[in-house]
Amino acid sequence: MVKKIMHDPLFLAQKSVDATEADKQIVTDLLDTFRANLEHCVGMAANMIGVKKNIIVVAAGPFQFAMINPVITKKSGAYQTEEGCLSLKGVRPCTRYQEIEVDYLDQNFKKQHGKYTGWTAQIIQHEIDHCNGIVI
Ligand SMILES: [Zn+2]
Repeated sequence: MVKKIMHDPLFLAQKSVDATEADKQIVTDLLDTFRANLEHCVGMAANMIGVKKNIIVVAAGPFQFAMINPVITKKSGAYQTEEGCLSLKGVRPCTRYQEIEVDYLDQNFKKQHGKYTGWTAQIIQHEIDHCNGIVI
């Protein structure tokens, strides 16, 4: 189901907790909401639809995928950039890493490990920040 986008900075500043299989509907709702907002964003975190769980969704070309309880295990190649956010107006400076490795669960709650570079890596870092209560 498509949900409303949360803009409350106090809510967005709170840390999310790990999701369990009982949260499968939230994963579906987040993907639905993300797909309804693809013109405006390249990723979303569950707290952006008002749910403080560690679930993010990321665009990769024509596809969108979910990462549940994502943890960055390696990062390299720091650089400075600027990002915007669906929950904010304007852009802000931030530090990102060119290459990251991530442990996460897929939509079926199977353990996965992925290596990401460039744009996809940047989106994942932005969305994981949301899970930690960091808005850019
Ligand atoms: Zn954002």
